[in-house]
Amino acid sequence: MNRGLLIVLSGPSGVGKGTVCAELRRRAPNLIYSVSATTRAPRSGEQDGVNYFFKTREQFQEMIAGDALLEYAEYVGNYYGTPRDFVEKTLAEGKDIILEIEVQGALKVKEKFPEGVFVFLLPPSLGELKQRIVGRGTETQDKIDHRLSVAVEEMNLLSRYDYAVVNDRIECACERIQAIITAEHCKRERF
Ligand code: 5GP
Repeated sequence: MNRGLLIVLSGPSGVGKGTVCAELRRRAPNLIYSVSATTRAPRSGEQDGVNYFFKTREQFQEMIAGDALLEYAEYVGNYYGTPRDFVEKTLAEGKDIILEIEVQGALKVKEKFPEGVFVFLLPPSLGELKQRIVGRGTETQDKIDHRLSVAVEEMNLLSRYDYAVVNDRIECACERIQAIITAEHCKRERF
């Protein structure tokens, strides 16, 4: 059986990775979504095991020590990481899996899975990105400023990715990502 495709969707905070990923899950039910672990507190409406596995710092450190994470990063004061076993198992079953993660973690995944498909989601403009981060309304001013400065640094890592997709409209961004996945399957097709 062919292994599944590992797709990494990354890009600066506020670009809409979460929204695009949710729409992709709706459109492509066969695409498996990797649920990350995090030490950040749940936002309203978020469910443990669906949006994230919410962990204490101690629990997260145990996962690191037990080598349970494929990658992890500390981002704006919280840990985020990808549980390893679920990714390995899904790929071995021949199913495609998508990771929606920030840029440092994505680069670590690239070291371990150079055959993965790395997609960078771009905002239509930097001004638009600022508006999206401020408009989310869930953060204090300090956190917004921090996220903005991190976002500008993150944009510089675009050249390390296989594809750039502009998130002008969610539907269009999803169509492009689905086209990329189809093309990558065609590239790997063998008799
Ligand atoms: P948020 O707190 O807004 O849900 O996520 C903050 C950032 O962490 C986003 O850029 C999101 O893509 C990223 N993120 C979510 N899960 C993971 C993960 O497992 N690993 C890494 N490295 N980043 C993650």
